[in-house]
Amino acid sequence: MQFHDSMISLVGNTPLVKLNSVTEGIQATVLAKVEYFNPGGSVKDRIALRMIEAAERSGELKPGGTIVEPTSGNTGVGLALVAQRKGYHCIFVCPDKVSTDKINVLRAYGAEVVVCPTAVDPEHPDSYYNVSDRLVHETPNAWKPDQYSNPNNPLSHYESTGPELWQQTDGRITHFVTGVGTGGTISGTGRYLKDVSEGRVQVVGADPEGSVYSGGSGRPYLVEGVGEDFWPSAYDRDIADEIVAVSDKDSFQMTRRLAREEGLLVGGSCGMAVVAALRVAERLGPDDVVVVLLPDSGRGYLSKIFSDVWMSSHGFLDEGEGEARVADVLAHKDGGMP
Ligand code: PMP
Repeated sequence: MQFHDSMISLVGNTPLVKLNSVTEGIQATVLAKVEYFNPGGSVKDRIALRMIEAAERSGELKPGGTIVEPTSGNTGVGLALVAQRKGYHCIFVCPDKVSTDKINVLRAYGAEVVVCPTAVDPEHPDSYYNVSDRLVHETPNAWKPDQYSNPNNPLSHYESTGPELWQQTDGRITHFVTGVGTGGTISGTGRYLKDVSEGRVQVVGADPEGSVYSGGSGRPYLVEGVGEDFWPSAYDRDIADEIVAVSDKDSFQMTRRLAREEGLLVGGSCGMAVVAALRVAERLGPDDVVVVLLPDSGRGYLSKIFSDVWMSSHGFLDEGEGEARVADVLAHKDGGMP
């Protein structure tokens, strides 16, 4: 018989796929690491597994305990998936900009979800960081993985994502491009690739315009899961050779092109990372191999990025683009479905 022991053993070993259409005119090879092939649908399954198993070993997470974490969804899915197999309860705290689709997914996996306002300072008692701290204190036998400071977040990438990329490219990777949220992916994967290539691999961070990593102040942007208004300790400030800032509009337009032209239905931070990867690849030659990591699937964003009405209401469509369709929806010609 051929079977996996549980969904947990499917974490990692995701495929690398060449981008063929959005790379028109570019000489370098651009490969996408498609992380939605993880069992929970995102790159965060990797860190969830490693953080939980490390906490079990250290005794911080006790049998029957409760996992409390502020998460924009993907980390929650990974934690919920691992937790249910191992008999833990989960409470997640999300900012209100996270799509209801994502929140319902967390609830579907059996987690409890608390939603907090986005438009408050991190120090505010209702900020999602503070609400989760309060829940940790009030809940008996609670453990907070804290992906922003947990060393097992970057370590999971040092030990899985990095070696996979080196092996999959046969050591020919020259540039690694990824979005920066907690900084775990870029720090762990980037450090491994630098170590194994003796500093040859260039590491590039993609960041939403307005976030601190590209020199902003934390001004709101709509791409989910990336950018910050503070400096997490999971982020190694020495790792990036370059940070590329990308606008919401460019991120979302590229996200839609990836679905239409490459068959990749992925999330908004993936479009953002690809925009950054192409800006880097444009300067390179035929021997260069750029790998861009695509963290999650587009299924969680159908009513946002993949809705013409939502895109148009934020000014993210070009002149004339999708106009007829938006008019149809507004006139309820197709049942008013956005
Ligand atoms: N994209 C999405 C959709 C995410 O959820 C995250 C994780 N917050 C990232 C990108 C960034 O990854 P990291 O936290 O490892 O920097």
